[in-house]
Amino acid sequence: MTSEIINSKDLKNDPVFGQLSFDNHEQIVFCNDEDTGLKAIIGIHNTALGPALGGTRMWQYKNEWDALNDVLRLSRGMTYKAAITGLNLGGGKAVIIGDAKTQKNDALMRRFGQFVDSLSGRYITAEDVGMETRDMDIVREVTPHVTGVSEAIGGAGNPSPVTAYGVYMGMKAAAEFKFGTNKLAGKKVLVQGVGHVGETLVKYITDEGAQVVLNDINEARLEELSKKYNANVVLGDDVYGLDVDIYAPCALGATINDNSISKLKAQVIAGAANNQLANELKHGELLKKKGIVYAPDFLINAGGIINVYSELDGGNREDIMRKTENIYNTTLEILTLSGKENLTTHQAAFNIAQARINAVKK
Ligand code: NAD
Repeated sequence: MTSEIINSKDLKNDPVFGQLSFDNHEQIVFCNDEDTGLKAIIGIHNTALGPALGGTRMWQYKNEWDALNDVLRLSRGMTYKAAITGLNLGGGKAVIIGDAKTQKNDALMRRFGQFVDSLSGRYITAEDVGMETRDMDIVREVTPHVTGVSEAIGGAGNPSPVTAYGVYMGMKAAAEFKFGTNKLAGKKVLVQGVGHVGETLVKYITDEGAQVVLNDINEARLEELSKKYNANVVLGDDVYGLDVDIYAPCALGATINDNSISKLKAQVIAGAANNQLANELKHGELLKKKGIVYAPDFLINAGGIINVYSELDGGNREDIMRKTENIYNTTLEILTLSGKENLTTHQAAFNIAQARINAVKK
């Protein structure tokens, strides 16, 4: 580690247990393989409700601190996502350090799978950013502890369309709560990140008549999708002051922060990205003060985990879509509860999830 990183004001010096994002995680596994160049971290946050399930993200992190911070935050988020969704799963996540476009190969994925296997089912992996269903099929060659494999080998397939459906349900519930109607026709929606989930979300909401503005760092993709969905495009990362009704973060986390909140004109935030609030307490409160309705990410982006969970509990497509559609009701209930109890929407959802974990622990 360089001294520059250690001195960073956002980080504590203690490498793992003293990290700001460390929240009583049960186990953190550092995986290294010289032959394939694999450098990965698996985070198991909590297994009170069941084995820790969560996807693997491959990303070119600026430094190892960022990778560790990400896996700590993401695995914790999975604990609460499973708990609020009523699934018997704990929270876990893995990150592989590297560029998925140029450094991912079958040997690396197989080696990663062997590390997953070494945890004997305490951690079950799946797909996240930088991963494809095919990568999970490779992992399946060396371990049974993987979900999100292709339908041809008994899996539930790509979870992203189901995630998008859940986000769509959460967005409609938040619109009902804020605007008094769940109809999105005529609403202006900024979708930031039009990847696997973002594109399907765009399809759902444009089909309903919403006016969509697309933002992504991948300009070729923006061009393709703006034509396909007859949508406007905004380039760059200074997008928060746009005159829209709804902001849907569907790229990476922590986009809701001091800077973005000071500019936001959107009255509703509902998107797929994990860990959208840079600081859950502070930014949850700031949104509440501004009257912006935030549909908690870990609640509305649970479609993907519902989809892969079906590989474990044998649920069929109908069960998956019914449970995902129910995100509408849960979101509306939690938004209503937050109003009644004068809590941030994040806190209201978090309390319910924590109560379920506590009950099982007892
Ligand atoms: P993806 O990699 O397919 O898409 C992400 C998109 O965001 C890409 O098009 C990328 O170019 C864009 N992007 C990256 N950085 C950006 C930036 N700074 N500004 C604008 N655009 C940027 O990923 P995905 O599977 O669509 O997932 C999107 C988000 O939803 C991620 O945060 C993921 O963790 C979360 N999520 C996904 C699922 C799922 O089922 N795929 C489930 C739950 C949560």
